[in-house]
Amino acid sequence: MKKIYFDYAIVGVGAAGLHLCLAMIDDNFFSTKKIIIIEKDAKTENDRTWCFWEKGEGKWDHILQQSWSGGHFHCSKFSKKLDLEDYNYKMIRSSQFYDHAKKKINSSPNFFWKEEEVLSVENSKGTSKIITKSNVYQANHIFDSRIDDDFFGEKDEFIRILQSFKGWIIKTDQPAFDTSKFIMMDFRLRWKDKTSFTYVLPISEKEAMVEFTLFNKHTLEAKDFDEKLKQYISEILKIDNYEILEIEKGVIPMTDFPFHSKSNSALTKIGTSGGWVKPSSGYAFKNCEKYAQKVVENITSNRLPSHQLFNKRYRWYDSILLDILWNKNEMGTSIFEEMFKNNDITEIFKFLDDEGNLLSDLRVIKSFNPIPFLKALLRRCLPKKM
Ligand SMILES: Cc1cc2nc3c(=O)[nH]c(=O)nc-3n(C[C@H](O)[C@H](O)[C@H](O)COP(=O)(O)OP(=O)(O)OC[C@H]3O[C@@H](n4cnc5c(N)ncnc54)[C@H](O)[C@@H]3O)c2cc1C
Repeated sequence: MKKIYFDYAIVGVGAAGLHLCLAMIDDNFFSTKKIIIIEKDAKTENDRTWCFWEKGEGKWDHILQQSWSGGHFHCSKFSKKLDLEDYNYKMIRSSQFYDHAKKKINSSPNFFWKEEEVLSVENSKGTSKIITKSNVYQANHIFDSRIDDDFFGEKDEFIRILQSFKGWIIKTDQPAFDTSKFIMMDFRLRWKDKTSFTYVLPISEKEAMVEFTLFNKHTLEAKDFDEKLKQYISEILKIDNYEILEIEKGVIPMTDFPFHSKSNSALTKIGTSGGWVKPSSGYAFKNCEKYAQKVVENITSNRLPSHQLFNKRYRWYDSILLDILWNKNEMGTSIFEEMFKNNDITEIFKFLDDEGNLLSDLRVIKSFNPIPFLKALLRRCLPKKM
């Protein structure tokens, strides 16, 4: 086996790894550094669709599939129009993002892309090693997007809610969708009494992505997702004739697992495996952009790459909501109803982006029935029974 030396190594380039590469390419500090990417897939497939919100124009506007300036929230008690003001809700196909990032990486001579599966990472003081079937790579610092085996263990000291979902891009024979508005959450159809909803992302008058989502300890079988999707399309959207063009499914962990604690001076866990997914919502695309930028700023300021990535106050709020979803899952629906009923969507976006101040946080927090939150707070504060 050959040993090959690099300044930085990035193991796995999905959302987080690619955002990190792009942030490094944009900073001159890295132009003299040798950076290796080791990724097991070719990254040519459209394996997911990312949605996110941001104010005004953004970095990815040239590769967006769709963008909406207004939306709707629905539940059995009320419906609400969402005026996004200076925000837009945006949708990007992962293949577009992969292509864009790969072009930038290929034109950066200090980046080296290897399509190999990493078997293990040895991380001790000094230089760390990455082992693949045919090579050993050494780097001064490794960024690792593989999820640690510990996370999948049986220990119940951490909350592990699965955000599982299945969606269809459907095509109707008649115009059926308003392309200026999306449905962010629709709780009118649920899986039993569990926290579950559908969202609709119109791409054209005749095409939309319709996705059924469940926040629960367990996921659903494919046939149960299909049944809910069929039911939503016929009973709520009132569409009878359509074909399914594409299928998306996935599971996102919503957890208080301390992923970030695995990072040290020679290794930084990134993406899902670094805790970059917002625990209470599962959104991660914009977080990956934000945290990749912070990692780069930390390195250029001579700090540990993982230095102060997260806002502790918001992690605490996240853990309280996770606790309710874990212990009283059926209450999730009313919590989202209260949040959307009593707050403008722009305030909700700020809150979910961890970007409010204490005053604006309190305005959102006081819109909830305090009882389940106080009970969850107590459960979080009391020592756990062994
Ligand atoms: C279907 C789906 C839809 C989603 N939609 C949204 C959304 O709309 N908005 C949003 O904000 N978030 C969304 N998410 C959540 C989140 O944005 C994604 O999961 C995001 O891709 C996480 O980034 P990541 O880099 O951690 O993981 P990934 O993007 O999964 O990247 C990990 C990379 O590591 C590689 N890898 C793994 N093991 C090895 C190994 N041993 N050797 C070499 N390479 C390896 C993989 O091939 C992969 O390329 C979605 C997730 C899924 C699954």
